[in-house]
Amino acid sequence: MTRVIFLGPPAVGKGTQATWLAEKLGIPTVSTGQIFRSNIDEGTELGRLADSYISRGKFVPDSITVPMVDARLSAPDVEDGFILDGFPRNLNQAHALRDLLAKRGVSLDVVIELEAPEEVVVERLQMRAGIEKRSDDRVEVFVQRLQDYHELTEPIATYYADQDLLEVVDAAKTREEIHEDILAVLSSKGLCSK
Ligand code: ADP
Repeated sequence: MTRVIFLGPPAVGKGTQATWLAEKLGIPTVSTGQIFRSNIDEGTELGRLADSYISRGKFVPDSITVPMVDARLSAPDVEDGFILDGFPRNLNQAHALRDLLAKRGVSLDVVIELEAPEEVVVERLQMRAGIEKRSDDRVEVFVQRLQDYHELTEPIATYYADQDLLEVVDAAKTREEIHEDILAVLSSKGLCSK
């Protein structure tokens, strides 16, 4: 029963680490970015709406994102734990998540912040942009996303640090090393046997 949040700038590698950890722990990842992208690919109403924000590098409004996460957290597969990737992204979402979890009588175990210098993030973005062709990875859009990360998402780290939930992991290393460091953090908290 492990409930984890991954925090970190766009393109730092949250998705990869969340997926690897989810496999290791046998729990699902809930990635708001992924849910939006599947909806965009399927051409749903939610996808159409989300795309109008995402392609401009803007956050999808909380009035859309929070109910979507609420619905996702109602599915039976997350009863035994989950890894949240890309949510919460601002303090309002963090507060909404607190209420969503309280309503279910459960709590978070740990928040892992992946930290890397800006040049590392930009380098990873350029690699991903060459492979995935996401509309939100174009340079001018990415600059907006990084700025929003600093202004809107970083304050969440303090919010969770105050609750003694925050663990910072150096994400300037290789993917494998980062994965090992994350497992070490979890095992030091008794959340997984390495
Ligand atoms: P990355 O992993 O590069 O940070 P994501 O896949 O998490 O990107 O998200 C892609 C885009 O989807 C974001 O730039 C944002 O527009 C939108 N999005 C994802 N999660 C949220 C959220 N929690 N609140 C608002 N918008 C979101």
